[in-house]
Amino acid sequence: MLLVKDLVKHYGSREALKGISFHVEEGQIVGLLGQNGAGKTTTMNIITGYLSATSGEVEIQGINILDKPKEAKRCLGYLPEQPPLYEKMTVREYLQFVAELKGLRKGGIAEEATRLMEQTNILDREHTLIRHLSKGYKQRVGLAQALAGNPALMILDEPMVGLDPNQIVEIRELIRSLAGERTIILSSHILSEIETLCDHIIILDQGRVAAENATRQLEAEHSNQKQLRMVIKGDKREIQRLLRETELLKRYSYIRDVEQGVYEFQVVSAMDTDIRDELFLLFAQNQMIVYSIHMEQMSLEDVFIKLTGKEEEA
Ligand code: ATP
Repeated sequence: MLLVKDLVKHYGSREALKGISFHVEEGQIVGLLGQNGAGKTTTMNIITGYLSATSGEVEIQGINILDKPKEAKRCLGYLPEQPPLYEKMTVREYLQFVAELKGLRKGGIAEEATRLMEQTNILDREHTLIRHLSKGYKQRVGLAQALAGNPALMILDEPMVGLDPNQIVEIRELIRSLAGERTIILSSHILSEIETLCDHIIILDQGRVAAENATRQLEAEHSNQKQLRMVIKGDKREIQRLLRETELLKRYSYIRDVEQGVYEFQVVSAMDTDIRDELFLLFAQNQMIVYSIHMEQMSLEDVFIKLTGKEEEA
């Protein structure tokens, strides 16, 4: 549905994009995640044809945005970071204006505005001036204008920025409801805002793709094989002696009493291979029972920090 190939963008001597490639399948909700300055807005502006790339290609449904910008833009809806809302217009006036700009035939403009308001749940504010709307409602109007002409691909730049937690939940639900057959790409610098919404996440770091995969797979790929959790039944001192003396481990720490005579430990492997079998046998041979043993998953947040070397901004 969308192909982005080797995008490079220079702003004077600053190399904002250093060769970005990815593709997006039809119907996916994809999150572009990255710190401020990672290159999210630049990438989105190039995909939408608002900015030209120094080199590289963008194809939307097989149409090259550089060769046939008009045709490609017909498949596109864009919500920029600062949506171009005309504050002195009412919601209906503005959406009719947007529908007209999108080239809808005169007779269909009022119905299109009604459809947009219905889809974004703002019909109750159709005659309100945009400047009188709350930030959450304004963002809905922004989404409504991006939906004009029923585009196959929607590009949303930081759609949750500046919203309070309730509004974030509402906008997230709204974006989810707009998906389906439609493909949606949205950016954020806050992982927790988008991880439950997106099927696929692309992590940008300093103008490059640092990681890209299905959201769950990204977590699994970066699972920390060396760190394990074990629940063991036995004498606590004896368990600790075995953990201390085995060459399989670099270190261990006691976590908690699960119940009487059953303890949970975190252990860190000294080996490059999966040592779960060896640990199980070690305790079995010493007449102790391993109730559970599993690798600790890294959260996506840990993956993000590992890949970019930075904490997310709150
Ligand atoms: P933000 O969330 O802050 O918008 P971003 O990930 O969207 O960040 P971009 O806005 O794409 O990042 O910026 C990428 C890099 O390009 C940054 O270093 C930025 O300073 C630089 N940059 C962006 N626009 C311009 C411009 N018009 N002129 C010069 N440098 C620019």
